[in-house]
Amino acid sequence: MEIKPGKFLEELMATKAPTGCEYQATAAIDAFAKPFADEYSRDVLGNRFASVGSAQKTIMFAGHIDEIGLIISHIDDKGFLFFQQLGGHDNIMLSGRRVAILAKKGVVRGVTGKKAVHLMDAKERKEVPETHQIWIDIGASSKEEAQALVEIGDSAVFECGLERLSKNRYAARAFDDKAGAYCAFEALRRIKEKGGNPDFKITAVATSQEEIGTRGAWTASYSVNPQIGIAIDVEHATDFPGCDARKNGLIKLGAGVVISRGPNINPVVFDRLVECAKANNIPYQVNAEPRPTGTDARILQMTRRGVATGLLGIPLRYMHTPAETADLQDIESCAALLAAFALSVKNDDDFTF
Ligand SMILES: [Zn+2]
Repeated sequence: MEIKPGKFLEELMATKAPTGCEYQATAAIDAFAKPFADEYSRDVLGNRFASVGSAQKTIMFAGHIDEIGLIISHIDDKGFLFFQQLGGHDNIMLSGRRVAILAKKGVVRGVTGKKAVHLMDAKERKEVPETHQIWIDIGASSKEEAQALVEIGDSAVFECGLERLSKNRYAARAFDDKAGAYCAFEALRRIKEKGGNPDFKITAVATSQEEIGTRGAWTASYSVNPQIGIAIDVEHATDFPGCDARKNGLIKLGAGVVISRGPNINPVVFDRLVECAKANNIPYQVNAEPRPTGTDARILQMTRRGVATGLLGIPLRYMHTPAETADLQDIESCAALLAAFALSVKNDDDFTF
């Protein structure tokens, strides 16, 4: 079956939201969730909170809206810009890209430059450049001209949007984790449509600053104070050439939402997620996570006296590159499972073990 991205996912994917500068994504979340949420708020870290229901106990969904980016840290005498990384890039991907700088007066366009291959010696050709060896060229011919457009501390992302590859497969920048934030808020909308859960308030949070250490979720989970928390993030699809399943397990694109299992995950929540997937014919895959995960689930679980935590993943190829590739069927499976799970939980369900 062919799935179309839909207006909300398209709008969210079109936003440029480098860590710490998530304004465009929060505006898209506001426009989508404010009209149907029973409560809606924001905080000093830039998180967004939308709730359905008014029960004492709460289930929190966390989907981060920040994406990896660049932050301008130096402008040289010729008007070239130098930068540091917001989140973890693969340096081999940094040069030869179109860049959009989110400057005060609007978007400034540039390219990431580096010495051409013809001008390199044999040793240089084998090296991965360090970040300071790459620059952004905005077409300025002097420091003054560049400074009139861009200021130190402005943030940037690569310029490449959502593009359809095949029936349900799309390439984009920053499926990580706008696809997860989409699931959190789309599931909340479906929960509202079904009348909510009388036993649990459901709060979807668009968390900020995940890419530099789950910082939005850190404060958000304290203020929401949930009994159950589900983080929704992307998960490495390992079905690409040369990937060793003995090292990385096997997660396939298009084979369904990934339900993680391991010490970061409450075992009762895990079992319930699997049960819900089976009961609703939602395709799913299981992923082993031996450590605290690199997602909002990491901090959610350790909040206050502990939160019964689950982690849903959307299979993704080429994570943290401008060519992230996902299957819309998996995004749909994730949103469907999240809604089914939240509606299934009852007041006296016990998540201790
Ligand atoms: Zn990430």
